[in-house]
Order: sequence, then structure tokens, then C-alpha cells
Amino acid sequence: MLPRRRLVAAARAVAQQECRALGLPLAFVSPRCQSHVQGSPPTRRFSHTGPRGSEHATEGGSQPPTPKKTIFSGIQPTGVLHLGNYFGAVRRWVELQEQGHNVIFSVVDLHSITLPQDPASLHSQILNMAASLIACGIDPARAVLFQQSRVSEHAQLNWVLGCLTTIARLGHLPQYKEKSAALKEVPLGLYVYPVLQAADILLYRATHVPVGEDQLQHIQLAAHLARVFNNKYGRTFRPPHSMVCDDATGRLRSLRQPTKKMSKSEADPKSRIELTDTPDQILEKLKKAVTDCTSAVYYDPETRPGVSNLMTIHSAIAGLSYDEIRAQCEGKDTGQYKLLVADVVIEHLRPIRQELTRLLEDKAHLVGLLDLGAARAKAIAASTWTEVRRKVGLSE
Ligand code: ATP
Ligand code: MG
Repeated sequence: MLPRRRLVAAARAVAQQECRALGLPLAFVSPRCQSHVQGSPPTRRFSHTGPRGSEHATEGGSQPPTPKKTIFSGIQPTGVLHLGNYFGAVRRWVELQEQGHNVIFSVVDLHSITLPQDPASLHSQILNMAASLIACGIDPARAVLFQQSRVSEHAQLNWVLGCLTTIARLGHLPQYKEKSAALKEVPLGLYVYPVLQAADILLYRATHVPVGEDQLQHIQLAAHLARVFNNKYGRTFRPPHSMVCDDATGRLRSLRQPTKKMSKSEADPKSRIELTDTPDQILEKLKKAVTDCTSAVYYDPETRPGVSNLMTIHSAIAGLSYDEIRAQCEGKDTGQYKLLVADVVIEHLRPIRQELTRLLEDKAHLVGLLDLGAARAKAIAASTWTEVRRKVGLSE
């Protein structure tokens, strides 16, 4: 097996060739970003679920495990990346990149318009989300980082897979139920969202999909559709496995309603800590986080979801167990504890926010990175789509 240094060098060489082909300056592949995974617990547990049932694996360290995985995941440009996205998904993406897997990450803008978006700000939200991912440690030289709508094969495969899906199956999915509940008129796009997500994953023949807990059923649908396609048209796709954090970071809760998950599209910005929040905003949001009347600090997600959520954030950043936090906070009440968590969060996000600010000062650089990512994604997607067309009988 090649040492990681050589793998990185090889990946950079490929990216440089692509830059030359696209006429982009080579500076585009000299990322100035840093990985901000420092301070995270050295080893984290993840559930891998997939077609052969449920398996658990512990991963971490710097050695690439064998065999190499093909990782795909996406994030919607529906707002600013928050701590739930960061701990539930993006920090994991960075770890997988650092382990030397084939990593493909998308800003899934087609998904974002399943609910109304303001056309005047959507494009800058797309750039902001790409910059946020880079600021968190995604390296566009090693990862394929791209905007979904730049690769038309996503919408095309979505159609083919939609023809293999039943209406009943989609109506049961929890995200659809949750997001459509408040709507009088439900857009068709919201209903077929998981089919497009399956197309995203299968186009790149991803073996693993690191996501938050809320996406589990969608990855199961993608695995189901891979099998349905294979049965009908011959072996083409490998059903993907989901990777979800085993701890509570897989579903970080809202700071205002700790029974609900933290979300970008939740109307109240005080419900989440965003990457762009200033130290004052972080402090304010954490001071106002809903907890309960018990003053002691201990972990009990069933009866004390609010304070337990704060402990999850603290534990994920400091690498401490809940017992260690409890021992450290002996004699502190929840009000004092909120100030401590605020300090920890502010310090963790400071370098990421600084890097994000720096990246957003050079929009042309970001656009160039996304051009490069789109070209690399397109090359893979087009090859899968050619095979799909042939197998379905749409071409010879
Ligand atoms: P929206 O409210 O617009 O759906 P979101 O916050 O749910 O936004 P997505 O773009 O839908 O974010 O999801 C990006 C990734 O973040 C997915 O892998 C998702 O499972 C994960 N994720 C989202 N919210 C949380 C959360 N509260 N805790 C852990 N992971 C999360
Ligand atoms: Mg979501």
C-alpha cells in the first residue's frame, strides 16, 4: 500500500492535470486551508448499516484502512452550516479524507429548491457552503467538491430511479412527513427528494455515505434502489452503507426545542450555532439554550435533553466522556456550565470562522475550485450514466 504522503501527492498531480486542462491557475490546488479536526476525540465509533444488516466498526488513526472506500455525501445550501451538520457529518467527512479514501462531497443545490429559496441569495449561499466545507478541512485537491446542479446526470439518473420507485414507499419517509407537515401545498420535489439523493450516491458508486441520523432511511432507499436496478437490468450498482455517529452527535438537538434536531432551515436562528456566529452570538445563544429546573450537570438525554445536548457538544469538542465532564463540573450549575460550553465552542470555531472569512474574500478562487470539482464529478457521473442508458435500453 502506498504511504499517505504519496497518495496525496498522486491526487494533487491528477488535480493539477485537470487544472491545466481547464485553464485554471495551479494555485487552485495549493489549498491554504487547514484541517480543523484537532481537538476531536482520537477514536470515534460509527455505525455502518447496509445491505448485509448492521455492522459496527471503530475507525480512527492515520493509516488508511483496506479496502479503500468510495465516500459520497452532500449538504444543502439552505443556510449556514451549523454544529449539527459539523459533528453529524462534515467533521467525519474530513476524517475520511484524511484516511485516504476516495471522497466526493456535493453542495446539493437541487435538493435545496425542494422548499422555496430566494433566487437573489441562493448562489452566494452555494459559494458560502463550499467555502464552509473547505474551512472545516475539506481539501479540494484530495476531495471532489462540487455543486450538484453542474452535473446534469444527477437529474437524469433521478428520473430512471423514480421510474423504479413506488409512491407508497416515498410517502412513509420521516423527513418528507416532517417537512411537508407545515405546508398547505406540498411540492412534488420534496416528495421525490430521496430518489434524487439515491441518484447522487449511485452515480459515484459510493460504498459508504456518512450522514446524520435523520438521513438513515434515505440511504436505505438508495440501497434498495440499487438492488431493484440490478435485478431488472443486471449488476450495475453496489448498495451503499450509511455511516452514522454512534453517539448523540448523529442527531444534535435544537437549542430552543431540544426534542427536535438542529436544522439550517428552522426559522429561529437561536436554535443553532452557525459557523459564522461571532463569539458574542455564540455566548448569547448558549446562555439562552433551553435546559430545565435541575441545576446539577449530568447526562440523561431522556429526561434532560437540553443539558445533555450541551454535554454532547462539549464532549465532541473536548474529547471528554460524559462522566469526565460531570466530574469536572461538580459544584457548577447549568447557568455556569453554559458559559463553559460557550468558551469551548468559541475557541473551536475561531480558526474555522477566520479561514471562512479569508476564503470568502476571493470569490473567483472559490468559483475556480467549484469548476474543477464539477469537471471531476462530471467525468465519473457521465461514465455511470452511459452504462445506465445502455442497460436500460435508451442507447445501443
Ligand atoms: P435543512 O434544515 O435545510 O434540511 P439540515 O440542517 O438538516 O438543513 P442538510 O443539508 O439537510 O442540513 O444535511 C447535511 C448533513 O448534516 C446530513 O448528513 C444530515 O444528516 C446532517 N445533519 C443535519 N442536521 C443534523 C443534526 N442536527 N445532527 C447531526 N447531523 C445533522
Ligand atoms: Mg436536512
